[in-house]
Amino acid sequence: MPQDMNRFNYYLNPIARLGRSNYSVGFPAAITLLAVLISEAIAYLIFKNPESVGLFAIFVFVGLIIYFSFRDGIKGGLVTAILTILYYFYIVFSRHHSGDRLVRDLETIGIFLALYVTLAVIIGWLRQKIDGLIEREGNERRRLQTIVQQLPVGVVVTDKEGKIEMANKQADIILGAKIPKGHKVGREPLVKANYKNKPISNSHSLILQVLTTGKAIVDREYVIDKENKRKIHLLASATPIFNREGKVIAAASILNDITQQKELEERKDDFVNMASHELKTPITSMKLYVESLSSRLGDKSGERTKKTLDSIKYQIIRLQNLVSDLLDVSRLQTGKLSFNKEEFRLDSLVAETAQELQGSAKQTILCSTSSHLRVSADKFRIYQVLTNIMTNAIKYSPAQSQIKIKVVKEDGRAIVSVQDSGIGITKEQQKKIFDRLYQVTDDTEKTFPGFGMGLYISKEIIKRHKGNIWVESEKGKGSIFYFSLPLFNK
Ligand code: ADP
Repeated sequence: MPQDMNRFNYYLNPIARLGRSNYSVGFPAAITLLAVLISEAIAYLIFKNPESVGLFAIFVFVGLIIYFSFRDGIKGGLVTAILTILYYFYIVFSRHHSGDRLVRDLETIGIFLALYVTLAVIIGWLRQKIDGLIEREGNERRRLQTIVQQLPVGVVVTDKEGKIEMANKQADIILGAKIPKGHKVGREPLVKANYKNKPISNSHSLILQVLTTGKAIVDREYVIDKENKRKIHLLASATPIFNREGKVIAAASILNDITQQKELEERKDDFVNMASHELKTPITSMKLYVESLSSRLGDKSGERTKKTLDSIKYQIIRLQNLVSDLLDVSRLQTGKLSFNKEEFRLDSLVAETAQELQGSAKQTILCSTSSHLRVSADKFRIYQVLTNIMTNAIKYSPAQSQIKIKVVKEDGRAIVSVQDSGIGITKEQQKKIFDRLYQVTDDTEKTFPGFGMGLYISKEIIKRHKGNIWVESEKGKGSIFYFSLPLFNK
């Protein structure tokens, strides 16, 4: 007898036995024989008339056939039906029926035989089908549970009310608490955690949001503060589960412990920050020494020495730019990049920057701007964005081609565009070029030096000025980089 069932349910309640296909033949046979004995005892001992069994025999045994075919499938139903028919034969012969009566009785038994067998087969078959379905669903569930338990990420599955139906070991480990089955998500948070530096509440429950909106949520970052222990960084996603009609019937949430990754990133950022700070001073001194050396030598230096000193200066400036980009990236990562806003004319800054870069460019830079486009922004940082986009246009387009720069006014914004007819960027790469340290790697482009920091820094600067930055480009045909800034109006 299975542990989850009591004696009554196991032996007598066919509903409780649904999904278990351990059909018995002995039990129906024994109970049918017992019913035969009782029927005979009632006829002979109580009514003292062997012919009194008639109706009793029909109803009780039909009931038994229905019951056992539902309890024990076709086998159970048939064994009850056959024993019942044998009993009917016994009644007919033991009561010495003869002549017409015997023929009528045998005909009736034949009809009952057909009826009982049909009943047993239909009900038994239905029972077996239901068991098959339940078993299949159970197997599916067990298979899913085993897979979910093995996953390296935490998984929590709830029903449509948000009650937890399934949670794997990894979820317990990540949250540092046993997730109770049946707990209603959002009623009270399972753990203390922060989202965007504020304690989480019901409204932050991904599962509840997903259940009400029916839309998946991807990669939300939470920080769990384990009392007296280290912080845990959690990346969580949740998705609704729909039935065939498209109604939300459940939700699943995936929890990923990214603490190690975060700590490593923090250590890396600290290192980059420290290293670039340490590099800044000697590079500045080197630049000063070279400058003082070249001014001391003055016109006395030969052509070769002058060339060498210029190359050293150029390389030092490159190094300086690189270190300052590195510092900016690490400041952005740690949220320490600050802006000194002032009011200035963007059109003038664009024109000046374009003129300045024309000096070192082999391309022709054409610049057309609307006038008096005032913005309130960090001038140095916007200049940094402009030089980055313009030097990219110079770097990634052929000499003697044209670079067109425009500043226009549109819906209360100033839009700057820098168009080149260079190597262009594929649609796939366009999605990534504004990411940190992303560089297009392709055989034709290996000759261009860079670290993929410029556009990332530019994007962050523009974003923090409430502007937008984007690109339109076709591989091989050229690119147009745009950025917008809100206009300053008093
Ligand atoms: P990098 O220092 O490599 O230039 P950026 O962040 O400025 O870094 O640019 C990222 C990548 O975007 C570059 O490596 C380059 O592949 C691509 N890119 C940027 N500007 C252009 C352009 N005008 N034409 C073609 N590709 C460009």
